[in-house]
Amino acid sequence: MATTQPSQTGNRKLPERARIGRFLETWLGAPINGLEFVLNWVMVKPLRWFWRHLDSWSYRLEGMLLRQILSHTIFPFTLILSVYVGLKLVENGITSLTLLGFVLLPIIYGLYCAPLERLMPYSRKWLEGGNDSAVDIIMYFSGAFWSGISGLIVSALFIVGIVEALEPYGHDLWPDQWNPVVQVAMFILIKDFFRYWFHRALHEIPKLWRIHAAHHSVERLYWLNGIRAHPLEIISQAIFYAIPLALVQPTAEIALVAVILQLSIGIFQHSNIDLNLGWWEYIFSIGDNHRYHHYPDKGIGDSNYGGELIIYDILFGTFHNPRDERPHDNIGIGTAPEYPLTVAGLYIAPFLPNQKTVFARDEESESEVSAGEPRLQPAE
Ligand SMILES: [Zn+2]
Ligand SMILES: [Zn+2]
Repeated sequence: MATTQPSQTGNRKLPERARIGRFLETWLGAPINGLEFVLNWVMVKPLRWFWRHLDSWSYRLEGMLLRQILSHTIFPFTLILSVYVGLKLVENGITSLTLLGFVLLPIIYGLYCAPLERLMPYSRKWLEGGNDSAVDIIMYFSGAFWSGISGLIVSALFIVGIVEALEPYGHDLWPDQWNPVVQVAMFILIKDFFRYWFHRALHEIPKLWRIHAAHHSVERLYWLNGIRAHPLEIISQAIFYAIPLALVQPTAEIALVAVILQLSIGIFQHSNIDLNLGWWEYIFSIGDNHRYHHYPDKGIGDSNYGGELIIYDILFGTFHNPRDERPHDNIGIGTAPEYPLTVAGLYIAPFLPNQKTVFARDEESESEVSAGEPRLQPAE
């Protein structure tokens, strides 16, 4: 595991010279900035103070058999439990209980993962993150809001007409008599094919990278910040998915179980729990795979694009996970050390002109991309 000192990460504002951005961030973003401040003091700080009491136990656990057993079993256990709970929740169709379970799920994952991150951290530096958790809570609700708006935008673009025309064919094609677990796996397999190419485009097309940079602005990985995404990424992905997914139409129950499974894989994609994932890392986009994806060095960071699965990266030659090393914890955007970290700043950043430091990937300066620090000590 990495062993650097606790981070002093603050809630950085836009660079001073981006005057228009700073003006908008300060004045138009004032209510959100206020909400961030309140959330941080009322919720994030007390919770972090509480979990910090587990730190002494984490040192005691190091080298113990119990830690080894947990590091091998936490992920498969959660995976199986998620599918089981998901299938139970939709056993009698989609009811209010299903929806309640669905809403409570992120809270349950948090109560489960936050203490485990403290007890067996991959990086001790990543345990402290300024007030980024307040930003991530707001980004979680912002993401849900923009997902809803995406549907309206798809309608406004008349894509919905094509989607509605194709859906009956999708329902006819879908093998709804097959075992539900196989159907869930098949749905994720198909959906992730599109996520792979969309995510790869976000990295390789400079204008799209501006939008996706918000996700890569994080300076630590922990269970909640996998959801950090700019609204334009959420909307453009919905438009990109709309037509192909109209031809992939499982029942609503299967789609819901798949979303629950995607949520649990997403937690382990960013989780700071030091897991021994073994061959799971050749199937899912989790653990070290995704840590490399967040490297500040473009040469390494432009890899491992899979949403839930990593198999398309293996298939299309973008897989990076050397057998004999583990990733360091100096992550972020190499060319944008001053990337804003407030919600308002994250919203505004892609639109600002002439921020060569922030958006160097857009221009000619790929060579300026920092190579990051040498990797830290491997996990025991
Ligand atoms: Zn990415
Ligand atoms: Zn990520």
